[in-house]
Amino acid sequence: MILVTGGAGYIGSHSALALLERGQEVVVFDNLSTGHLETIETLKKFGNLEFFKGDLLNREELKHLFERFSIDSVIHFAAFSQVGESVQNPQKYYLNNVCGTINLLNTMLEYGVKKIVFSSTAATYGEPIQIPIDENHPQQPINPYGQTKLIIEKIMDDYDKAYGLKSVRLRYFNVAGADSKCRIGEWHEPETHLIPNILKSTFSSGEVFKIFGTDYETKDGTCVRDYINIEDLAEAHILALEYLKSGGKTDFFNLGTNTGNTVKEVFSICEKVTGRKIAAEQRPRRIGDPAVLVADNTKAKNILGWNPHKTLEESITSAYGWENMLRKELEQNNICMERI
Ligand code: UDP
Repeated sequence: MILVTGGAGYIGSHSALALLERGQEVVVFDNLSTGHLETIETLKKFGNLEFFKGDLLNREELKHLFERFSIDSVIHFAAFSQVGESVQNPQKYYLNNVCGTINLLNTMLEYGVKKIVFSSTAATYGEPIQIPIDENHPQQPINPYGQTKLIIEKIMDDYDKAYGLKSVRLRYFNVAGADSKCRIGEWHEPETHLIPNILKSTFSSGEVFKIFGTDYETKDGTCVRDYINIEDLAEAHILALEYLKSGGKTDFFNLGTNTGNTVKEVFSICEKVTGRKIAAEQRPRRIGDPAVLVADNTKAKNILGWNPHKTLEESITSAYGWENMLRKELEQNNICMERI
């Protein structure tokens, strides 16, 4: 059985769904602090999924989990992930992300589980010194969130040397879109990400979309990011697990598309997909946003055999489908349930 921590969240749930659709047995461990029980209920319809509500900071709960289920490998998503909040409240991030992961790794060792795929981030690179960013780029995070992920990567190296625990660290660039059948999608409260914020502004309850920074040294003055589709990203986790199961060594890979789009380009694709003229306000730069972040994904292609193929327009189309679906369900039922 594969343990997916944080499987009720955005990336964890899409990866769990990809595993289920390949006939894998999955146990999700999640404290539901940011994830949703409704997402778990939906996932259960698509395969053999068990849910264990628990917290990584609670060693007893972790032990019960490993006692109860026959776990052979782990994909670890559970973490806080808001950059701004991590600057305001670093102790929350160091405690949850770092200490929680240490508890997980120690419990894995106690139960003889030695394979883990870890949800890392391009934020471990910090301010880029060259574009595109490959895996040899220096890792100098500029916020506590990125620091927590880098510390965990280093812990994993030490745990390999000392205990033979094999890890694959996947460094995500900007993850975008939803399940193409709209069964699950991005559901953050509060939402800080670009695409859902543009799309949300088209609904009557939405706020006017704000562009953070129009004076960057880029082709139209707005930030450039590398948007990787969530289903392509989920696929990389499956491949990473297969890589470890076939004896692969501890390694780390960028997950991106090798191409960048500006905020204004994303905005105009959103207008095309929604068929609406969307209002936008120009605002000052958001603190800590580098001008350009684009991945070099050659290593993941060569070693994992990963081949992302969905376009940004496909990501935005699925995200919009999901936003519509979520609203309809919330309106009909007051909470979100059926998503088939
Ligand atoms: N952004 C924006 N308005 C928003 C949210 C994001 O202009 O409401 C910009 C943000 O400044 C950055 C880009 O969109 O340049 C991507 O931001 P996001 O938070 O989606 O991802 P990040 O790159 O911070 O991981």
